[in-house]
Amino acid sequence: MPLYAFRCQTCAHEFETLARFEETPECPACGGAHVERQLSLIAKPAAGGDAGAGESCAAMAGGAPCAGCPALAG
Ligand SMILES: [Zn+2]
Repeated sequence: MPLYAFRCQTCAHEFETLARFEETPECPACGGAHVERQLSLIAKPAAGGDAGAGESCAAMAGGAPCAGCPALAG
């Protein structure tokens, strides 16, 4: 069985457990049955590409550009 992450809608407790897809486990904290499956915690989608590359380069702040600095590419 796959490992799923859940969040209790009653007490906001978050937990992971093995469960069938059609099964909804009870909250281990309060025993509540109103838990929702969290899909985003399992696989983080790749997004943004190389956004953030060179963000720490000194050239961005007017200093000397680093090797591979985007400021040198053009
Ligand atoms: Zn709960």
